[in-house]
Amino acid sequence: YTQAKALIFSKFGEPVDVLQLHKHSISPSLPDDAVLLRTLAAPVNPSDVNTIQGTYGVKPEFSKETQLLLGTPEPCAIPGHEGCFEVVSVGPGVQSGLKRGDWVIPAISGFGTFRTHALVRDADKKLWKIDHGDLTPIQVAQVSVNPCSAYRMLKDYVDLVGLSVQTFQNDPECEGGAWFIQNGANSGVGRAAIQLGRLWGLRSINIIRERSTPEATEALKKELTDLGATVVVTESEFIDNHRAFAAELKEKYTRGGKDPIMLGLNCVGGKSAANIVRTLSPKGVMVTYGGMSRQSFPFPTGPVIFKRLRLEGFWVSAWGRENPAEKRKTIDEILGLMRKGEFKAAPVDEVRWDWDTEEKTLKDAIQGTLQGFRRGKGLFVF
Ligand code: NDP
Repeated sequence: YTQAKALIFSKFGEPVDVLQLHKHSISPSLPDDAVLLRTLAAPVNPSDVNTIQGTYGVKPEFSKETQLLLGTPEPCAIPGHEGCFEVVSVGPGVQSGLKRGDWVIPAISGFGTFRTHALVRDADKKLWKIDHGDLTPIQVAQVSVNPCSAYRMLKDYVDLVGLSVQTFQNDPECEGGAWFIQNGANSGVGRAAIQLGRLWGLRSINIIRERSTPEATEALKKELTDLGATVVVTESEFIDNHRAFAAELKEKYTRGGKDPIMLGLNCVGGKSAANIVRTLSPKGVMVTYGGMSRQSFPFPTGPVIFKRLRLEGFWVSAWGRENPAEKRKTIDEILGLMRKGEFKAAPVDEVRWDWDTEEKTLKDAIQGTLQGFRRGKGLFVF
């Protein structure tokens, strides 16, 4: 028997209140279609906290099946949307050619990754094998949500790469590729967008929040510039001094507005989002994918009408469900960039999950996710 532990919850609420660390054992005789996995790494994303709070777009089922499998007193769910696992053993009826030692990631969201082991029925539909080569579990574990979202948002709403080519052809004096603008630029998604933008020849305007000292703000600006950001501004430069920012943008970067800003990525909401709308060029698109400030945003009437702007929402879970083959291709392409050293995973705050790790340590790591001003995203390593 394999001794295992899983974080579980049976009602929605704050992670520290509703999560429990549950111990169970897994029989060595696997069902035909099942695979036994050992978890290697699992990041804690903002959506994991929202899922536990019951505010995410899809609510997990507190299932009798999980209750039976884990032997818990009540029907329950296991949190965690993404992670990297190693195959421990494979049931005789599994068709996908998985074998002991392979690495896999969940092919579906809501997989339940905050556990030491997973017995996965219907493994052919739920797992993707990863050809990991030199990659680390930390890199593989984080690929399917943040980088994948950044990739799709940069590609699927405005043809920025095509626009770059067109602009260069029409105007050889243009000094760089097409522009996009984003807030939450130091987030996992933001860092991925900066790097993909650099690789695809795009230019980016990146909004961050001030750090506690000017030196720390400069250091973060430099970190993002090193990743490939073209311009990095603070919220106070962008929001409180918006007119000055807009004037400087025209003068220094967009040649008086000749180089348009056609795409905005909104992770924050509030005034920051409203000012992204003001910054967009005619027929531009703002894609909202997060609401970290927990503030909705006014969609300023004048700019929307007179610039004929478009507002879109992006949700990677729904996109992945509708486009599984495309998602797989996107993930493979990003892993390929990581292998070549052209794409860095976001910084993480590693939390070791051993047999003796206390429940409180694990719960605190999840609870802290939405706090802000963090060194990196929490990530369980096993
Ligand atoms: P990270 O944990 O990597 O980063 C969090 C980001 O949010 C940081 O930039 C942080 O800035 C910022 N932030 C935190 N609190 C606030 C606040 N009160 N006001 C403004 N900014 C704040 O996040 P992810 O990249 O994993 O996710 C970012 C957002 O994107 C989340 O809302 C997440 O749910 C969403 N998301 C949505 C997806 C979708 O498909 N719709 C896919 C992936 C992510 P600071 O360092 O200054 O605190």
